[in-house]
Amino acid sequence: MLPPVEFLIDRMPGEFPDLAVQAGGKPFHGRIMRRWIYKGGLTSFDEITDLPQSLRKSLAERYVLNRLTSLEVQKSADGTEKAAFSLHDGNIVETVLIPDRNRKTVCISSQVGCPVGCRFCASGLKGFKRNLASGEMVEQVVWARSQGPDSLTNIVFMGTGEPLLNLENLKKAIQVINHSDGLNIGARRITVSTVGYPDRIRELAALGLQINLAISLHAADDAKRQSIVPTADKVPITAILAAADDYRQRTTRDVTFEYVLIGGVNDSSGDAETLAALLKGRKGSVNVIAWNKVEGVDLQEPSPAAKADFLARLMKRKIPATLRESRGDDIAAACGQLRLKIERSP
Ligand code: SAH
Ligand code: SF4
Repeated sequence: MLPPVEFLIDRMPGEFPDLAVQAGGKPFHGRIMRRWIYKGGLTSFDEITDLPQSLRKSLAERYVLNRLTSLEVQKSADGTEKAAFSLHDGNIVETVLIPDRNRKTVCISSQVGCPVGCRFCASGLKGFKRNLASGEMVEQVVWARSQGPDSLTNIVFMGTGEPLLNLENLKKAIQVINHSDGLNIGARRITVSTVGYPDRIRELAALGLQINLAISLHAADDAKRQSIVPTADKVPITAILAAADDYRQRTTRDVTFEYVLIGGVNDSSGDAETLAALLKGRKGSVNVIAWNKVEGVDLQEPSPAAKADFLARLMKRKIPATLRESRGDDIAAACGQLRLKIERSP
């Protein structure tokens, strides 16, 4: 029988000194290994030249170095970069890197496919394959950090998948990303986006980290939301908002609401007014995102007039809101799109 495939990137930073000892080295070798692995770009343990050769050999016998193999990196005219990676079982995930004036954000996938299957989203179109391991999420960040001269400033779990349906691995990935001996990236720079599972939102808050939470609302009444977000029938909006309040109290972080504007579905003046009434008196702003066309999905983009009217109505009711136009349109950068394209191409 083949030995199980083990990856060092799946381990917590504190485990490395022991792992080095188990492989025949000293605890300080573990700290060296850790530094190289989180820096990224290694293709063989032999490149860790400050480890004894015998230890490098022993590590290579026990562990596989990388979880992700780059298949394709596309660069958009607006600077957005999108990478598709193959995993050890042949599945494909994608990661998007979005430079902005004084920010550089990476958008991380948390699952292969998505079990939720929102009507407008490419990620659920081909169903759900599996959860990503913590190391498969961490390595996406390691990749992003090694691209270009500017430092990575923000991490958003807004790629393919529903992060809260992969909660244990998500929590572990966040801990490695945040840990001072890990990637050492501040919790306030990390955002988790979810369609909203109240118990799991509370469990995320219990981590005790100041991670930002984004809730994908997309509609302000349950009936309409259920027609867009299929999971919504089990979770009423009021229960999600109550969990968001608890999250805010526990972490002292604001919660943002995402609202993908789809032509003729949720973009009317009435929709804007219902949303404003729902969020009145609450903290937290709304990100209105114009729907990005997905091949094979029979929906319309919102008209410029509908976008402007929607935003103006929220502002008039003093609901803080911004309109986000999609980035990387020319490279299919909306979540789930590149994987779909690669899998559809012959
Ligand atoms: N599953 C989580 C996180 C991934 S989706 C969630 O739904 O929140 C991240 C965001 O991208 C969500 O707000 C989602 O609504 C949005 N999104 C997905 N497909 C899109 C598309 N085609 N155009 C615009 N936004 C999209
Ligand atoms: Fe899944 Fe989020 Fe896409 Fe809905 S929007 S299908 S929850 S990835």
